[in-house]
Amino acid sequence: MMLLEYDHQAIMVDCGIMFPTGDMLGIDLVIPDINYLRSNPDVLKGIFITHGHEDHIGALPYLIEELNVPIYATKLTCAFIEYKLQNARRGKAPKADLNIITEKDTINVGPFQVEPFAVSHSIPNAVGLGIHTPQGLIVHTGEFKFDPSPYSGRKTDKERLQRYSDMGVLLLMSDSTNAEHEGITPSEQTIAESMNEIFDNAKGRVILATFASNIDRVQLMADAIIAHDRKVVFVGRSMVEFSRIARELGYLNIPNKHIVPLDQAERTSDSKVAFICTGTQGEPNSALVRMGNDDHRQIEIKSGDTVVVSASIIPGNEEVVNTNIDNLFRLGADVIYQQLKHVHVSGHANRETLKEMIALVKPKYFMPIQGEYRMLSLHGRLAEEMGIPASNIIVIENGQIVEINRDEVSFGKKFPTDYVFIDGSSVGDVGNVVLRDRHNLSQNGFVSCAIAIKESSGKLVEGPEIISRGFIYIRENEFMLDEAADLVVQSIGRKRRKRKLTSDVLNDTIRRTLSDFFYKTTGRRPMIFPVVLEV
Ligand SMILES: [Zn+2]
Repeated sequence: MMLLEYDHQAIMVDCGIMFPTGDMLGIDLVIPDINYLRSNPDVLKGIFITHGHEDHIGALPYLIEELNVPIYATKLTCAFIEYKLQNARRGKAPKADLNIITEKDTINVGPFQVEPFAVSHSIPNAVGLGIHTPQGLIVHTGEFKFDPSPYSGRKTDKERLQRYSDMGVLLLMSDSTNAEHEGITPSEQTIAESMNEIFDNAKGRVILATFASNIDRVQLMADAIIAHDRKVVFVGRSMVEFSRIARELGYLNIPNKHIVPLDQAERTSDSKVAFICTGTQGEPNSALVRMGNDDHRQIEIKSGDTVVVSASIIPGNEEVVNTNIDNLFRLGADVIYQQLKHVHVSGHANRETLKEMIALVKPKYFMPIQGEYRMLSLHGRLAEEMGIPASNIIVIENGQIVEINRDEVSFGKKFPTDYVFIDGSSVGDVGNVVLRDRHNLSQNGFVSCAIAIKESSGKLVEGPEIISRGFIYIRENEFMLDEAADLVVQSIGRKRRKRKLTSDVLNDTIRRTLSDFFYKTTGRRPMIFPVVLEV
């Protein structure tokens, strides 16, 4: 998510989610912090979405009703947003004012004139944005590559970029995702060859996994399937739905006669069928993971099956993905993945293309966007190598305000931002304190210690009853818990001799006594929950 503001009027570019990192225990998604807009109400005038990937549209269901401004996106992107809104987990679908835009349009919003232009990416109908502002022209690449022979025929519109370059570009914001990768991203076409080879050699069923939104890849797979006289079977809700939407809108061309619904696939012989499903990232509920775990309702992996994982592993997912590949091998499948065969190309520009973009657009200022900080830094350095002065290269992090005009760029204040966690149906209720507790619980477990005292005298009348989860196995450690209970009784007794004990003092006494005792006996510090009842 990014905001462009001029004279108290702003447009937003993209509104996506981040997937939780390993230390965000139990968190489903992370959405952007919109506190800046809350403290500057009425500033936002519209939202432009560059393409339909989760990290560009995923936060809309959570934020759009509060933001309450028109959304502008291309046809397929609008359809994917609509699908997301309809399937939002919380109550009824949020309302949104969706406006379809094309590469021929100029959209006037406040002081901005926005011109979408075609880019080639791993989802169809993606755009970059030419944004005319009173201070000059901004080019936002969206996410792109320069694929000279894209499978769908959609190329990044270099003529438009050349035209902008001729007009003079104040600021280029460019996709940094592949700033660590040398060379040029291979064309999507190059996968077709591997795919055909796989089908030439496959004797039994073929199961192809990719992202549901990677419609061009699905087209490429379907073409190979049909060319080898097999039927296409879509597996899994998102794959079925995304391919349906893309076919309805004309972005995926598979005649009906080549498609068989999953529940009828059994009747087709193994050598006449191929499945397209999700699960390349080891997502727990995805079709491919269910198959690997041997608990998919319709597809039981057996020897003779060929499974193709047509995606790269998103960093952080390596373990789950590899475990699933192990499982598929164990069940007898022949698994083909990126390290073994050329079955995937990235949707992002590698370094040579990033250079080409800078050389083509010739911006005065350069801001690397999309990617981890190291990628932004590397992309910034690349721009410097390309002759952009270091003082004109803007590498920033979340919340940093940058002020740019024709003559200068300066850093404004950093607006405090934080991750907003989505956990189940709660938005932002889980913060860092809860995460710290979860982390502690996951490392050391907990021990609860319940006692009852007489309200009038403060005398212990029941307990202590000690139970634990995730700390020690109680049945084999009863003696330790008995000793712990004795210690609690003793420390309460000692304290009580001096004064009448309030429940605060009792809680504290229990916590300290048990914490010290368990640390001494086990070297660990479980979370301690004292429960004090006054009767
Ligand atoms: Zn993308």
